[in-house]
Amino acid sequence: MTIQSVETLASQGKRDFKCRFCGNGLETTFVDLGMSPLCQTHIAPSQLHEMEPFYPLHAYVCSACFLVQLQEFVSPGEIFTEYAYFSSYSTSWVDHARRYSEMAIDRFRLDPTSRVMEIASNDGYLLQHFVARGIPVLGIEPAANVAKAATDKGIPTTVRFFGRAAAAAIAAEHGRPDLLLGNNVLAHVPDLNDFVGGMKLLLAPNGAITMEFPHLQRLMAENQFDTIYHEHFSYFSFVAVEKVFAHHGLTMFDVDELQTHGGSLRIYARHAENAAILVGPKVHALRQREIDDGFLTPERYRGFGEQVKSTKRKLLTFLIEARNAGKKVVGYGAPGKGNTLLNYCGIRTDFLDFTVDANPYKQGKFTPGTRIPILSPEAIREAKPDYVLILPWNLKDEISQAASYVRDWGGQFVVPIPEVRVF
Ligand SMILES: [Zn+2]
Repeated sequence: MTIQSVETLASQGKRDFKCRFCGNGLETTFVDLGMSPLCQTHIAPSQLHEMEPFYPLHAYVCSACFLVQLQEFVSPGEIFTEYAYFSSYSTSWVDHARRYSEMAIDRFRLDPTSRVMEIASNDGYLLQHFVARGIPVLGIEPAANVAKAATDKGIPTTVRFFGRAAAAAIAAEHGRPDLLLGNNVLAHVPDLNDFVGGMKLLLAPNGAITMEFPHLQRLMAENQFDTIYHEHFSYFSFVAVEKVFAHHGLTMFDVDELQTHGGSLRIYARHAENAAILVGPKVHALRQREIDDGFLTPERYRGFGEQVKSTKRKLLTFLIEARNAGKKVVGYGAPGKGNTLLNYCGIRTDFLDFTVDANPYKQGKFTPGTRIPILSPEAIREAKPDYVLILPWNLKDEISQAASYVRDWGGQFVVPIPEVRVF
């Protein structure tokens, strides 16, 4: 058995993968992160002696439209109907939502005669700011438990997955929104064409869409491989997402580059027919920057896998040296990205005694696959660790402030991405 035949063997076993946007066959690997369990399936103590399903975590890039994507192994119905992520647990995210709503009310001149709808509205963390200004809203949220939290706060919310059928039903029942938004949902959509097609159907003729999602260019530049997990089906460059929207009759008219989630884009779209909204200069500038950077060539995407392996070795080197020196290391957070990082790097209780999370849904459970206990943040005060590894590194400022008491006993924080940094 030669090395070449190992590669042949792997390709023989491959299913016929097709691009979820353009249908082209997927051949080019973006990164192969091995086998991983679903990131939101936290393990209850009663499940500790049972097996867990693991799925391939192998991202491809389409050589026709350059959409980076994972195959769908589990339906969103299995992932999102009882979701453990409540946006309101992150104070910096709630602040971000407040600033967004102030910008949107001002820019789109929204008032009590307008209508705002949010897809994947979670627990109403964002729409509450429009409600406070007397602007009618509707949340669209598939997870019944988080939707109920929103309804209890007075945010009208319909429990459903979004697509063309939902769009038609919502338009008939509630009318069309002047502002239709969705933050960190586009990546989670398996049927991208049905989803974007649904937005085209629902949006009022003069309305605007805004969506935020992590920017592929930042993911690659900053080794953010841990943001790749089964619940994230697609990873967007601006050139790829613009193509998807254009195909459905939606034109990008502006774009902001944000610092959230390690570097996100906020895109602004309108009906292609609505020439009254002019396309701003940032659209052309970002498109050209990505083209100049090679995002429309397959070569640009090769080499990311090596970057990922190197990031893994650096993190493991730090942990091995710390533990060999007798240092105590614990985690902070149990986010989806932590699951990819821990499983891909093989970090279990041999390196991290435990991790903590402010979300009571996760406390008392164990991380998927790696089975690290998830405790409440107070456990850090008791344990007095030398190092606290921040798994949601995008929230490192918020977390290091909230847990600044670790400095009292000389403890330090560590972020794993873009590379190991102790501070
Ligand atoms: Zn494609």
